[in-house]
Amino acid sequence: MSDRLTDSPEHLRLGIDMDGVVADFNAGWIERYNRDFGAALHPDHVVGWDELHGLTTFGSMGEFWEWARGNGRSVFRDLPPMPGALEALRELSRDHRIVIITARFDWAIGDTLGWLSEHGVLAREVHFTATKYEVACDVYLDDSPYQIDALAHGRPDATVCRRVTAWNRPVAGVRDVTTWPEFQDVVADVAAGRLNGS
Ligand SMILES: [Mg+2]
Repeated sequence: MSDRLTDSPEHLRLGIDMDGVVADFNAGWIERYNRDFGAALHPDHVVGWDELHGLTTFGSMGEFWEWARGNGRSVFRDLPPMPGALEALRELSRDHRIVIITARFDWAIGDTLGWLSEHGVLAREVHFTATKYEVACDVYLDDSPYQIDALAHGRPDATVCRRVTAWNRPVAGVRDVTTWPEFQDVVADVAAGRLNGS
């Protein structure tokens, strides 16, 4: 047995979004909001992108984020995992490189790293960036309508997957997935050479 540290075998680079994909951002902030304000919001009420404050008493997304930042523990620290996400990432990490790519305010970086650590996500790379297409991967999974578009245009050779939600729409050339097992099937197809970016 070699005494040298080596990386796990990695066939594909999987660029994975956090919110709405690995962590349930809407369930998390709504739970905290209901507690703070005695409200009765439900995650199903979120049907648009970047208009969350419209569901709340906040006058703008700026006010929303100020509240979400919390007092030393932001909403990003307490998000529930998305169903099946942790199990799927564990399985995928056996053969592939998990590359977490998430747009984050500076104040949320520590809480995001804490979340990934607490939940045992075997990410060998974590990128905090809003220009996700600059991080080269073979397969991407995202739920943001802007990121899905940007990835499809910026990485035409990659397989881009849309996590289907109420706040995004089909995009030409982008694969739709609704569950983690479906995403694992796409990854298996790409690994077997049965699928390319088209
Ligand atoms: Mg997202």
